[in-house]
Amino acid sequence: MSTKSAISDHSPLEGLVCSREPETRSRALMERAGRHLGLSDATIAELVSPQEVRAFRIPCKILGKVIVLWGVLALHNNARGPFKGGIRLASDVSLWETVELARLMTLKTAAVDIEFGGGKTGIRVDMAEMYRVFGRTPIDRDFEKIISLDAVEYYAKAVGSLFSEHHYVPAPDMGTGPDEMAFIYNETQDSASVTGKPEGTPGWQPGRREATGFGVSYVTLRLLEDRLNVPARRAAVAIQGFGNVGSYAARYLAEAGVRVVGVTDSYGGTCRTAGLDIDALVAHVEREGTVRGFAGGDPLLNDQIFALDVDVLIPAATGHVITDRNAGGIRARAVVEGANMPTTMEAMDILTRRGIVVMPDIVANSGGVIASMEEYARSLSAAKMPQERMFQTIRDLLSTAMDVTAARSDELKVTLTEAAVGIAIERVYDAMRGRRMI
Ligand code: NAD
Repeated sequence: MSTKSAISDHSPLEGLVCSREPETRSRALMERAGRHLGLSDATIAELVSPQEVRAFRIPCKILGKVIVLWGVLALHNNARGPFKGGIRLASDVSLWETVELARLMTLKTAAVDIEFGGGKTGIRVDMAEMYRVFGRTPIDRDFEKIISLDAVEYYAKAVGSLFSEHHYVPAPDMGTGPDEMAFIYNETQDSASVTGKPEGTPGWQPGRREATGFGVSYVTLRLLEDRLNVPARRAAVAIQGFGNVGSYAARYLAEAGVRVVGVTDSYGGTCRTAGLDIDALVAHVEREGTVRGFAGGDPLLNDQIFALDVDVLIPAATGHVITDRNAGGIRARAVVEGANMPTTMEAMDILTRRGIVVMPDIVANSGGVIASMEEYARSLSAAKMPQERMFQTIRDLLSTAMDVTAARSDELKVTLTEAAVGIAIERVYDAMRGRRMI
């Protein structure tokens, strides 16, 4: 009798669970940094390993149909504070990628020295498939919102106690935003159980929505000034992704006088050498759901963004987009990682050889989790911390993180990424030792 499944070649669970963790960037960087610190292989393995991983299946009733969604909850490390990390909805969620993103949160919270650990949720939602199943025509943002809100609501019902106990404190990530976080609050009725809540929801933090993009813009401006010696008013940047991170980074950079000369998203792109009018582009995206077709620019193919002649390239969409195939053609002098893990290890080595500075994700995009720290800490206060004060906290923590990272990079003659990971794992290791977790 054949042991092969009669139903399909691969079950959804098999699709999520791979037998071994593939070579990942965070793991390779942690191993490198751990050896540099003189840690044993066993200790490095403890630091790399997640504390808990769950693969789950949630049947959701959406618009009268039962849609089964699969996902992964990865709780990497809570030595320095509650597991913290966003909820991602995407078609390509996998177990090991979710683990890696959780690990990245551990490194990020440690790199900027805030008292959180690292966690992540990935829920497999294939919007193209949803359009097909429900007989809808893209781009229908109301329809996409129904899907994402329902997915997160059912997920919150399934694991809500983790949120209420502040064991794992979620936030937005790709495919989710403040609306979905409000649904988590509705479920838990606890303002400290989730961050990234929208204005008006108890415990919301002014500026949280803008915070990651604001932080990316701050890091870019500091890099232009300190390392590239280019005044903001003469600088040009290109941004891949025009969602939460990319669009706010673009707005704050344009406000500082930087020319944003190219932007792409999943559907296409737009470019203008003299600089795109970002307010007009935001209005276009609000109407059309994409940057494609923007009247104030020329069409740009997604891959072309990497070869634009700019000072800084900001990948702010998804992971693994700068690879050994396109790293050789990058003309920017620096890459600021707005997205998580946009540069592969091979590409990082190529960029380093070519003298292109990479500001790593764990520093560059940590503005959001810094704002989440304020939101979490003040969740019971009825008095709001004003946006400008919260932005000042982001500037202060990012400035310190950039300074200590640059100092270690210069001292040890390693890249900024290696320096930041080294600082982070030293902090996590110390906390684990102090708490006898290792
Ligand atoms: P989002 O869903 O709001 O926007 C993603 C954008 O990227 C959209 O414009 C989408 O069209 C585009 N995109 C997706 N895949 C693409 C591709 N292959 N090519 C070109 N464009 C593509 O997501 P976001 O919240 O802005 O997150 C973007 C990245 O930043 C992710 O890697 C996320 O993990 C990371 N990040 C987000 C936050 C946050 O606070 N939102 C914090 C830290 C890191």
